[in-house]
Amino acid sequence: MWEISCPACRKEQASARLATLSQCSRCQCELDSLREITDAAAGTYIAGQQLLAAGNGAGALEQARISWELRRQPETAQLAFLAALLSADYENADHWYKVAEKISRKD
Ligand SMILES: [Zn+2]
Repeated sequence: MWEISCPACRKEQASARLATLSQCSRCQCELDSLREITDAAAGTYIAGQQLLAAGNGAGALEQARISWELRRQPETAQLAFLAALLSADYENADHWYKVAEKISRKD
């Protein structure tokens, strides 16, 4: 779901090969741990989306927070913002709005 770049040489790894790729195609850096973290981040992000769709803002925010700790993606900050808004948690909504705005500007 999310691409990974080699932490050593920054080469982006083709997403179609991610499922079987354990080393960087350029420098042979080990990528299994990074892929596992990325998969866990994507899994919690998807769980958060499903909770948001089900109207569970607090649950969605918790999943978004876990996902964010694993991997900082703009869409995760956006999910956290929407989850906080759904929970009428305006302090967190304000925080995550700023985080989402900041990270989106870097792209
Ligand atoms: Zn590499």
